[in-house]
Amino acid sequence: MHVDVAIIGGGPAGLAAAITLRKRGIKKVTILERECNAGGIPRHCGHPPFGMREFHRILRGPKYAARVVEQAKSAGAQILTRHSVTELLPGGELKVASPQGLLTISAKRVLIATGVRETPRAARFVTGGRPKGITTTGALQSMIYLKGLSPFKRPVIVGSELVSFSAILTAIKGGMDPVAMIEPGQRITARHPCELIAHFKGVPLLLNTELKEILGTSKVEGITVNDTKTGESRDIDCDGVIFTGKFIPEAALAKLSHLQLDAASGGLEIDQFGRCSDANYYATGNILRPVETAGWSYREGHVVGAMIADDLEGKLSDIKDASVLCRCEDPVKLVVPQRIIPGRTGGFKHLQLRVSRAVKGELIIADNLGREWKKKMSVLPERRILVALSELGILENTGTLRVYFKE
Ligand SMILES: Cc1cc2nc3c(=O)[nH]c(=O)nc-3n(C[C@H](O)[C@H](O)[C@H](O)COP(=O)(O)OP(=O)(O)OC[C@H]3O[C@@H](n4cnc5c(N)ncnc54)[C@H](O)[C@@H]3O)c2cc1C
Repeated sequence: MHVDVAIIGGGPAGLAAAITLRKRGIKKVTILERECNAGGIPRHCGHPPFGMREFHRILRGPKYAARVVEQAKSAGAQILTRHSVTELLPGGELKVASPQGLLTISAKRVLIATGVRETPRAARFVTGGRPKGITTTGALQSMIYLKGLSPFKRPVIVGSELVSFSAILTAIKGGMDPVAMIEPGQRITARHPCELIAHFKGVPLLLNTELKEILGTSKVEGITVNDTKTGESRDIDCDGVIFTGKFIPEAALAKLSHLQLDAASGGLEIDQFGRCSDANYYATGNILRPVETAGWSYREGHVVGAMIADDLEGKLSDIKDASVLCRCEDPVKLVVPQRIIPGRTGGFKHLQLRVSRAVKGELIIADNLGREWKKKMSVLPERRILVALSELGILENTGTLRVYFKE
C-alpha cells in the first residue's frame, strides 16, 4: 500500500493534521489507529471542558472526539482502525498489524502522533502484592465510559495533577465513593482551585502523604502511607488504587526505531518544522512532551500538517541539516523542539519548556558565543513555559543552546 502521508494515531493531533493535509490538496492521507475507534484519549474523558477554542462550545470528551473524527472524514482522510503500527523503517516504510494480517505501508511522509500515557504502578516502584483493583485514570475511564464496568467501590487516588481530579469525577460517575486523594508534596500539582473539586465531592485531600505499600492478596484491602514530614506510617482502608498522571510519551514504537529520541522529554527529537532525525518522519501532539491539553494537541496537529504539506510541495527542500541543539539543565526538565535550524521560521514558533520542581529565578538561554536571553520568573512543575524563537534570534549555527535557571 502506498500513501502520500501515513499518520500513526487517530487522536486530536493526528486527526487535525489529516484535516490540514487534505485541505492543502494532499491526495492520500491515511490515519492508522490501533483502537476500534479513532478519537484518542478524549473518547473516554466523559467530562467537560473540551472544544472551547476549536468549536466555540463546551463539550464532553466523547462528543469532542466524534466531532474531530467527523471533520477528518469529511475532509477526505482515510481512517483505518484496528491497525497497529509495529515497526518504523528508514525512508517511511511501516509494518502494520491489521485484521487482514501484517501489512507493509510505504508513505512519502509519516507523522507520529501516538500521544501520552500515565505511569503505571509497575514503573512507580510501589511494594506490596499484585491484587485486583489497581488501575490508572485512563484505564478506569475506559472501563466506566466505554465498557460500563466498575472495578471497585472505595478507591484511593494517588496524585494531584489535573487528571487526578478528573479521576475523582470518573470514580463518582462509576458509582464509587473515593476514600482519599494522596499527594507527597505540600501542595497539589494542578492549579488552584482544583482542590475544590475534592472538597465539594467530599474526598479528603491528604498532602505530605506518600504511598508505601499496597495491601491485599487477591483484592486490594488497603494501603500503607507515610507522612513525608514526620515519617510516621499508617494504613488506609480501601478496595482500589488509581494511579494518576506522571505522564510519559507513548514512544514504545519510536524507541524500537532508527529515530532519535529525546532523553529529557521521553519523546521524539524534532526541529521547528516538526521533523524527526529521518526527514521522512514528523511528530506532533503529546508524543512530544508530557503533557498538553487536547486543544493544544489539535492545534499542533494542524501546524505540523501544514509543515508536511509545505515539504511535499518542495518548500522545505533547501533546508540544511545543520542545526542548533537545545539542551536543558535541572530544574528545566524538557525543551521542545530540541533542534533549531538557524534563520528559518517553522511551525513551532516557541520553545516549550517544563520544570521538575517549583523554581524562582532567571531563566537563561545561552549559546556557545556567550550570548544570553534572560527572563525572571517563578514557575511550578507541569506549567507550560513558552519562549518565542524570534526573541532568541538564532541566525547562525552556534552548536548548542543551554537552557537553565539561575535561582
Ligand atoms: C488518562 C488521560 C486523561 C486525560 N485527560 C485529559 C483531559 O481531560 N483534557 C485534556 O485536554 N487532555 C487530557 N489528556 C491529555 C491528552 O493526551 C490530550 O487531551 C490529547 O488526547 C492528546 O492528543 P494526541 O493526539 O497527541 O494523543 P492521543 O489522544 O493519546 O491519541 C493517540 C492515538 O494514537 C494511537 N496509537 C498509539 N500507538 C499506536 C500505534 N502503534 N499504532 C496505531 N495507533 C497508535 C492511540 O490508540 C491513540 O488513539 C489526558 C491524557 C490521559 C492519558
